[in-house]
Amino acid sequence: MTPLLPTPDHYLQNLITMTSPEAKRMWRQAIKEHFNCQCVYCGKHYELHELTLDHVVPRFYGGETTTRNLVPSCRKCNQNKGTSNWLSWMRETFGITPRESMILSHIK
Ligand SMILES: [Zn+2]
Repeated sequence: MTPLLPTPDHYLQNLITMTSPEAKRMWRQAIKEHFNCQCVYCGKHYELHELTLDHVVPRFYGGETTTRNLVPSCRKCNQNKGTSNWLSWMRETFGITPRESMILSHIK
């Protein structure tokens, strides 16, 4: 299992890998594995390559590209959520689910 570190640079600094593309690949995979390859929004499970990483706070609103602001999301949820507030969008789309607290504890 790939350790979950805050950014790709941490994989290089900790000598887990020597190349930047590999660091990025490992980092993206670690985030997906941390959530057991589940889309945090709809709750369905996917293969690694089927999942995207979603910025919980969109980049548009200054959301950072770090582990704490990234969650695995299927393409459909990622697209539908767009730049909406994640919690309002999630409640409108799926109602209140236990996945809310999973996301909250990841981003805090
Ligand atoms: Zn989904």
